[in-house]
Amino acid sequence: MSNNKDEFSYEQEIALKGGALVRCREHHDVLLNAGSPQSMRHAYALGTNLMNNSGEAPGYHREDLMAAIKAAVDEAPVECPICYAAGQWR
Ligand SMILES: [Zn+2]
Repeated sequence: MSNNKDEFSYEQEIALKGGALVRCREHHDVLLNAGSPQSMRHAYALGTNLMNNSGEAPGYHREDLMAAIKAAVDEAPVECPICYAAGQWR
């Protein structure tokens, strides 16, 4: 897996900023589902602000961006799979 921390998608970056996704403490390129409805709302608000304030969301309609953010969070594991695998060896 790459260590390039800038390879996240646009919606992943927003979810990360909002706190709906969090980085694994050991593996900074692994995004985890924070499982927080409050952070999810924060991420939606951030995405909406970005769309309203700039051209930073090219080609997105608001509903598409919200759906993409939700999908990015839903797809993320709650537990880091690398940490989990490492734990199996102890
Ligand atoms: Zn990890």
